[in-house]
Amino acid sequence: MKPDKGGLSPGLTLVATPIGNARDITLRALDVLAEADVLAAEDTRALRRLLEIHGVALNGRPVLAYHEHNGAKMRPRLLAELAAGKSLAYASEAGTPMISDPGFDLARAVQEAGYPVTSAPGASAVVTALTLAGLPTDRFFFAGFLPNQAAQRRRALGELADVPGTLVFYESPRRVAAMLADAAEVLGGTRPAAVARELTKRFEELRRAPLAELAESYAESPPKGEVVVLVDRGRSEKISEMDVTRSLETALETMSVRDAADYVAAMYGIRKRPVYQEAMKMQKDRDG
Ligand code: SAM
Repeated sequence: MKPDKGGLSPGLTLVATPIGNARDITLRALDVLAEADVLAAEDTRALRRLLEIHGVALNGRPVLAYHEHNGAKMRPRLLAELAAGKSLAYASEAGTPMISDPGFDLARAVQEAGYPVTSAPGASAVVTALTLAGLPTDRFFFAGFLPNQAAQRRRALGELADVPGTLVFYESPRRVAAMLADAAEVLGGTRPAAVARELTKRFEELRRAPLAELAESYAESPPKGEVVVLVDRGRSEKISEMDVTRSLETALETMSVRDAADYVAAMYGIRKRPVYQEAMKMQKDRDG
């Protein structure tokens, strides 16, 4: 693949920035930040600091604040820059814009106004945590931040109980113990879970344990820094043979017996052997 370093065309580029380690920025992100006519950021100080670290000069280019509280006011201003043929780069405070961060309304407004939107992808805590947590990654559900109020939080957790994938939550360190206690109660204290803390930073830490154990340990000493909570899918007794058979039928349309069995076993979080045996039987029937 050839690196594309050609000048920046007019339009909006959503730029991912590091979630901790300042070197976790892509070469393309640096190119975009160096070349865009106008820079906009959720936290202008954080972006200026990042530019300084990487030796990207502003040369008089504006760095405009665009965040939750001023979006409605700023969008027309940013659209006017695009109308004038300018290139605009937007970065949220950390990680990927729009992932529990602002940027969605801006990108939509730009698209609706008919200007190009592109992405310079990079770090995000959800993917970084998933790669480290030791929980299945074949399917996951990013639930962002749960409500702060206990009753609403429990209701939201209840809605996620049967999601057939790893659940990923962002949480503030102050609330993580309460959130884990509610999760243990609603999802079951034995569910395998993990807390990923201070990812890519000096005190990066990963704790893996059943929900109830994690809840207890963080109740005793709340964590410092940023955290992501991950919870394994429910190993539901509710998975019926019918569900497995139906999924195998679909998988066998396009996959070999072994791949279909691996895929379906991972999807439901169940043992491979019986699924493989069932898949073999089904394939035999199919072959007549
Ligand atoms: N846009 C960001 C992304 O792409 O990950 C997320 C921004 S959101 C406002 C901030 C939350 O992300 C934190 O409360 C924490 O749950 C998670 N987070 C961000 N950086 C993190 C890190 N270095 N370690 C652990 N969690 C992090």
